[in-house]
Amino acid sequence: MHDLKIIIIGAGIGGLAAGIGLKQAGFEVEIYDRVKELRPVGAGISLWSNGVKVLNRLGLGQPMAQIGGRMDKMQYRWKTGDLLNDIDLFPLIEQVGQRPYPVARADLQNMLIEHFPGEIQLDHKCIGVEQDEAGVTATFENGHQAKGDLLVAADGVRSILREYVLNKTVEPQYRGYVNWNGLVPISPDLAPPNTWVVYVGEHKRASMMPVGGDRFYFFFDVPMAKGTVANPDRYQAELREHFSGWAEPVQSLIDRINPEQMARPEIHDMGPLPQMVRGKVALLGDAAHTTCPDLGQGGCQALEDGLILTQYLTTTNISIEYALMRYERDRLDRANPVVEKARQRAEMIHGKDPDITQKWYQQLSEEDPAAVTSAISKVIMAGPLH
Ligand SMILES: Cc1cc2nc3c(=O)[nH]c(=O)nc-3n(C[C@H](O)[C@H](O)[C@H](O)COP(=O)(O)OP(=O)(O)OC[C@H]3O[C@@H](n4cnc5c(N)ncnc54)[C@H](O)[C@@H]3O)c2cc1C
Repeated sequence: MHDLKIIIIGAGIGGLAAGIGLKQAGFEVEIYDRVKELRPVGAGISLWSNGVKVLNRLGLGQPMAQIGGRMDKMQYRWKTGDLLNDIDLFPLIEQVGQRPYPVARADLQNMLIEHFPGEIQLDHKCIGVEQDEAGVTATFENGHQAKGDLLVAADGVRSILREYVLNKTVEPQYRGYVNWNGLVPISPDLAPPNTWVVYVGEHKRASMMPVGGDRFYFFFDVPMAKGTVANPDRYQAELREHFSGWAEPVQSLIDRINPEQMARPEIHDMGPLPQMVRGKVALLGDAAHTTCPDLGQGGCQALEDGLILTQYLTTTNISIEYALMRYERDRLDRANPVVEKARQRAEMIHGKDPDITQKWYQQLSEEDPAAVTSAISKVIMAGPLH
């Protein structure tokens, strides 16, 4: 199956990385995105080692290391600033064989765009897909039609192609908390420049981690009712209110944020789904398994999807449908438990059952750092490149 033409809908992390891998494997690839200009939603992302290894496999290890932050340690602090746990990440890095990289989303997306050796058609909103014996046809709002042998739907959490694949609508679910995120210049009075610091308390978090360009990617999260309004003019006031009385670095961070360059999403997830494939159409990334960010694995799973899709398309020669069925089986087994684990963690962190969150706070101060890194390692090592 070497002369395949593959249509990818969505130029996010998942669609772009899959496009690079499929091109490298010798396939013809066309990527389409609905936006007029590619600008990622959100400021940063922490790529754990399983995601970084996929980029290494694509030959992108070096550019990734250039834009990634150097994160040697992880610290949990109580909201007042008291240190709960100080975790050296080197044992983890040695165990899994690759350091994780927090990275600015714009840098990651630009790096992927730069390394996709083809054209990305912007301003093409896909509105439907059909398939028959001969292949697939994607239809776009602007009247364009794209024909290929198979279609990869990497169209994100609000995927419209998911309904086609599943033959029913599955809506993402609000998981009960709001996340503010952005970038600020690194400054030692905020946090040590090689450390991911997480302040916890009142079922909320305030966190900073180093990304390339001497910046911290920061986020705050707070349990809130659904439907609160995101108004940049109010971000600082909101955060001052929610984090009143928290440690000095948290207050300084709020003072320094630039509300115009922040995102404030309500956190949703979706799944586990029973299916990712219909014939010659395959879901990839958030379209198939939108994951709460509390494990830092959503983007990493999208990267793994692309790797495995490429692998089955290059190593099986029975039929496209057969290769996609193998892809589906493999990826449901891997990504669905990650969706569930991330949801459980989100609930634990954000006080779904306040007693469980209280126990977690207690555990943070007593836990052996090796237990923390070994739990992270387990998730990483369950991936395809261990
Ligand atoms: C606050 C937050 C923090 C996170 N932190 C992490 C983290 O630390 N680590 C991690 O690994 N993951 C993290 N994630 C998850 C990660 O962001 C996602 O899993 C990842 O972006 C999914 O990539 P994707 O390519 O599947 O989808 P997306 O990045 O959403 O890309 C989808 C693309 O499809 C396009 N599109 C949509 N519909 C159409 C259409 N009809 N026609 C054409 N184009 C279309 C969109 O414009 C978009 O460009 C986080 C998520 C959030 C919300």
